[in-house]
Amino acid sequence: MTGSELRGRLILDDSVAVGRLVIEDDRIAAVDIENDAPGAGADLPYISPGFVDVHVHGWGGHDAMGDAHALDGMARALLRHGVTSFLPTGVTNPLPVLHAWADRVRAWLPAAPANGADPIGFNIEGPFISHAKKGAHNPSLLLNPADVPWSDIEPLVDGLTVMTVAPEIPGGLELIRRLTSLGVRISIGHSNADLAGALAGYDAGGVTTTHLFNGMSGIDHRSPGVAVAALTRDDAWVELIADGHHVHPALWRIIQRTKPADRMMLISDALSMAGMGDGRLTISGLEIEVKDGRCTLADGSGTLAGSVIALDTAVRNMVRAGFSLPVAVAAASRNPLAMLGVTDRGRVAEGQLADLVELDDDLVVRGVVRAGTRIV
Ligand SMILES: [Zn+2]
Repeated sequence: MTGSELRGRLILDDSVAVGRLVIEDDRIAAVDIENDAPGAGADLPYISPGFVDVHVHGWGGHDAMGDAHALDGMARALLRHGVTSFLPTGVTNPLPVLHAWADRVRAWLPAAPANGADPIGFNIEGPFISHAKKGAHNPSLLLNPADVPWSDIEPLVDGLTVMTVAPEIPGGLELIRRLTSLGVRISIGHSNADLAGALAGYDAGGVTTTHLFNGMSGIDHRSPGVAVAALTRDDAWVELIADGHHVHPALWRIIQRTKPADRMMLISDALSMAGMGDGRLTISGLEIEVKDGRCTLADGSGTLAGSVIALDTAVRNMVRAGFSLPVAVAAASRNPLAMLGVTDRGRVAEGQLADLVELDDDLVVRGVVRAGTRIV
């Protein structure tokens, strides 16, 4: 598609305005604002930057830890929900399984389908996390970095974009320092650290926070934990699963009032069952049940195991909860990209990659343009 145009209510960095985008090749060549009066263009679709999910384990029946076919299917399923870039995210598994998976993803990245979300790296959650905050990770597979020779970790590193580490476990801080020095972005999470321990994790290189409030020591006024460190450290990014199950919307307000707006990131933490209705699946040896939009361990504990939403739903939920459209959209696009250091996309602005989503008044995805080509 060369020299095409899109017209609508453009979701800009801090505002919404009626305008026209000129798209040349894969880029936004020009942004012409026609009317920036509030409420203008009610008959036009919203045009949002494409969504970016940095923590997603699968979608539409496809598991990120599957083969190339599964990764293709996941990328295509995500795109239909407006996700134009993503990090396939692996979970706690024996290290040889993770090594083989990392090799598989590296081989797949350059061959990813043009009609799917663009994989801009990969993410690994576990196995260097806390038993006390294991969530739905298989406890028999958790490891302390101090017990693992570097030669068993190194095969993961090439191309690894984000890794969750609990700073307080033996060898945790050393691992954070080492991975940070190699360019991996460390996400503090699945951690039972106290305030000092959590802050030490960020000081050692942690830049972001795995699903804030879930799988971490929280807000206790006498023994503050990771959540307090994440909320009060202005430079730390935080992930939020805005499905309404993982974190009560009342807490979203606390995030809004404590974090700089550009440090909040929406993630799905979706499992392969997302988009498939109710059912059961097994992930690294643990049985998980999906019922009425909630994923829990099937052991009766009620432990949440991930979500079945995509970022379109997360953005919609945030807006319904009172967040402005530009703030909710930035949390699903520009902010996660900033965490990754990616600047060529994520904004409706001249020169940016034309990864765009058309949304109706109910914020339902009606069209998706990826690198200048309409896919949906
Ligand atoms: Zn996860």
